[in-house]
Amino acid sequence: MKVLWLYLAIFVFTFISHRTGYIQGHHAGQLESQTEKYTVTAYCPKECCCGEWADGYFANGEPVGGLAIAAPKSIPFDTVLFVPGYGTATVKDRGGSIKGNKLDVYFPTHQEALDWGVQYLTVLEME
Ligand SMILES: [Zn+2]
Repeated sequence: MKVLWLYLAIFVFTFISHRTGYIQGHHAGQLESQTEKYTVTAYCPKECCCGEWADGYFANGEPVGGLAIAAPKSIPFDTVLFVPGYGTATVKDRGGSIKGNKLDVYFPTHQEALDWGVQYLTVLEME
């Protein structure tokens, strides 16, 4: 009878450790997929940054303003990203040089874009 209890204890221990291990692994994987390192540059809506595309509209058709991010085509419009130091903003724009792990954050003036410079940041994708 003691042997049976021992088997039962081993079974329960194995079951619980597998379950918690599974949950932890699953959770960690989820968090990992929501954050990504990006090289984040900045731009203003004028010719200095946008050239011929300086028409007062983002690539998604909305007039420029507020907080907005230019992202590669792999990130659809309306995706909400948290960029540390910039804020929680929506992907509204595209850019010829915005490829791979690069983002461009929008500022209303060129000076603000210059002040941002180039930053290597962990960006969180919001639900
Ligand atoms: Zn500019």
